[in-house]
Amino acid sequence: MIQIKKEVYERMIAHSKEGYPNEACGLLAGRGAVCTAFFPMKNVDESSISYFMDPKEQLQVFKQMRQQGLDMLGIYHSHVASEATPSQKDVRLAFYPDASTLIVSLSDRNKPQLRSFRIEDEKVSEEPWSLV
Ligand SMILES: [Zn+2]
Repeated sequence: MIQIKKEVYERMIAHSKEGYPNEACGLLAGRGAVCTAFFPMKNVDESSISYFMDPKEQLQVFKQMRQQGLDMLGIYHSHVASEATPSQKDVRLAFYPDASTLIVSLSDRNKPQLRSFRIEDEKVSEEPWSLV
């Protein structure tokens, strides 16, 4: 179960829409199971069907999280035209089993849909999430 502060959720949805028509991505951090911080990231793929975070930007954000005493709790990206389920590539490239994989689907742009997953050893399980 992952809990997301309302303002973090709203920033993530807004960031997804700003990235349209490309996939958008970012990191969520906090303490325990509550995401209290949102870090928007560049999608260096600049693609509507994939994303890749800039490793340098990622290191800088990891450093900021450490300085703020936060753990990375979630890795988010958007799907611009498909459902909020992990693609084969998403599953293959899920390197952080302790973090949630969050996907925002914009297939209905007026009604973005968020789903959260745990991916470990290429096994996917959906997990519930809630706003706090
Ligand atoms: Zn994806």
